[in-house]
Amino acid sequence: MCGIVGYIGKQEAFPILIKGLHRLEYRGYDSAGVALVNDNKELNVYKTKGRVADLEEFVKNKDISGTIGIAHTRWATHGEPNNVNAHPHYSQSENLALIHNGIIENYSTIKEELINKGYSFQSDTDTEVLVQLIEYIKETNKTDLFTAVQLALGEIVGAYAIAVLEKGNTDTIIAARKSSPLVIGIGEDELFVASDASPIVDYTNKVLYLDDEEIAIVKRGEEPIIRTIGNVKKSHKIVELEVNLSQLEKGGYPHFMLKEIIEQPRTLKDCMSGRINISCDNVVLSGILDNKEKFMNARRIIILGCGTSWHAGLIGEYLFEDICRIPVEVEYSSEFRYRHPVIYKDDIVIAISQSGETADTLAAIELAKEAGAFVFGICNVVGSSIPRNTHSGAYTHVGPEIGVASTKAFTAQVMVLNMMALAIGRAKGSITEDRFQHLIKELGRIPEKVEHILKDTSKIENLSKIFTYAHNFIYLGRGYNCPVAMEGALKLKEISYIHAEGYPAAEMKHGPIALIDNEMPVVVIATHNSMYEKIISNIQEIKARNGKVIAVVTENDCKMCNIADQIIEVPASEECLEPLLTIIPLQLLSYYIAVNKGRDVDMPRNLAKSVTVE
Ligand code: GLU
Repeated sequence: MCGIVGYIGKQEAFPILIKGLHRLEYRGYDSAGVALVNDNKELNVYKTKGRVADLEEFVKNKDISGTIGIAHTRWATHGEPNNVNAHPHYSQSENLALIHNGIIENYSTIKEELINKGYSFQSDTDTEVLVQLIEYIKETNKTDLFTAVQLALGEIVGAYAIAVLEKGNTDTIIAARKSSPLVIGIGEDELFVASDASPIVDYTNKVLYLDDEEIAIVKRGEEPIIRTIGNVKKSHKIVELEVNLSQLEKGGYPHFMLKEIIEQPRTLKDCMSGRINISCDNVVLSGILDNKEKFMNARRIIILGCGTSWHAGLIGEYLFEDICRIPVEVEYSSEFRYRHPVIYKDDIVIAISQSGETADTLAAIELAKEAGAFVFGICNVVGSSIPRNTHSGAYTHVGPEIGVASTKAFTAQVMVLNMMALAIGRAKGSITEDRFQHLIKELGRIPEKVEHILKDTSKIENLSKIFTYAHNFIYLGRGYNCPVAMEGALKLKEISYIHAEGYPAAEMKHGPIALIDNEMPVVVIATHNSMYEKIISNIQEIKARNGKVIAVVTENDCKMCNIADQIIEVPASEECLEPLLTIIPLQLLSYYIAVNKGRDVDMPRNLAKSVTVE
């Protein structure tokens, strides 16, 4: 969601900032802008609604010189996406320019006060209020910019990552964060500020992460100075980035999403690596091993997530109840945090988030920690806020996921949950050694089975053509495959904009069945497992109403060939591991339908990759 990149160095800033904005495009945005201080110490701001390419077009014949600058991709929260609301925002005198990710919750009160003091506003954003407040404080208190930012942030309620430039100052960016990530990159004779590492990796792998309520003076030729809003001096370790450049490129694929779907055999192996041993008879997760007592004595597991991560959590519920015999509740982070939930000290809370920055999940974690629960994070982005704010956790290790619709991160989240359930179940004795050995061997075979599904995607590509013009879809599954149906529907909605509902198959009779007619495609996950006969009955109910059934079935299931209109085969596996296979054709189906419809697959409208506002 919304991106920040800033540069101070010896090179011209504009091309570096634009390249950085392109790297941040995957996060989702609606407008882009840049501010530069040129060698005459003038502060120039250029911004426009639309894509980064529109910004490049817009600045043609304008003064884009300068070796210091800040740039932004906006994902509108306050005020429609238009040229005026785009960032950076000037202060009233145009002496300051500011970019902001997040939401200033008390902006309307501050705005009213500033209007009473004679300030006028150009935009509808909450952000403009902050830059005006900084200027007001700077002028009335006759302070430097850093102190003005510090004092202004003391008055702000909300979430922010900001970067500020000042006319007349060709050396300094002031940057700060609260509940929205910000990283400082340290290169050779150059410094960077960014909302994630992706715009920085081209230039350096040395970074430091700001913590909440910290403000940095990022000054040419100097080490960044960091202080809190309360003016306590802070020092941070410079750490090395694990991301490399090839992970940020498409590598010959037309879209990041397809690349990331195809990568899954490898990412699943990476996720298991170092955790499941070579002979595939043991699983070790250090995050569990180091806190074994907590897991052994857990009264309950609460899983928190949003969107795709919530679907992974639902699969976790089946796993932990089945294999570990621990009761599980799966919660939307956004509902949990405001529900005054009952949390026990012997609860384990598992927070799932690809980005590790999901605002609602972060807030829910704080709540759980305050109540004394033990919090375990499952995240992909190394060094992000959730891993830094939980007691323990496990990374998914799939590398950067650029496509907005999550694919490889989802399967790795499910893989981590599987490994956790096996490790805890074995330690608790809630699973027999025979079943453990069988499941862990099967888990080890999952990457090759995924590879097998991906070997020939042409059947799904052809199938997608039949259904591209459907207006609605229903996805059905039972047991472990029920969350897969929900995730499949979400994928289709996200990138093709076709309305889709994911439902437990038996629930269909209690409402959605009314929607079924001869134009309704119904995707049913009907693999050969303990629910097989039940799901056949559900398919018959759809067929009786002329619905078009696309069934995801176990290889060589002849019976299903005769019942369903279309079938997609996946290799046989253990029921609890099936989601790792059955989701793959659903990802591909959504992808090809979206491509057929000419959608912007990697950057679907209105969506953001990392949802850093609540
Ligand atoms: N709340 C600000 C706005 O609507 C910032 C949005 C963002 O994070 O991009 O302009």
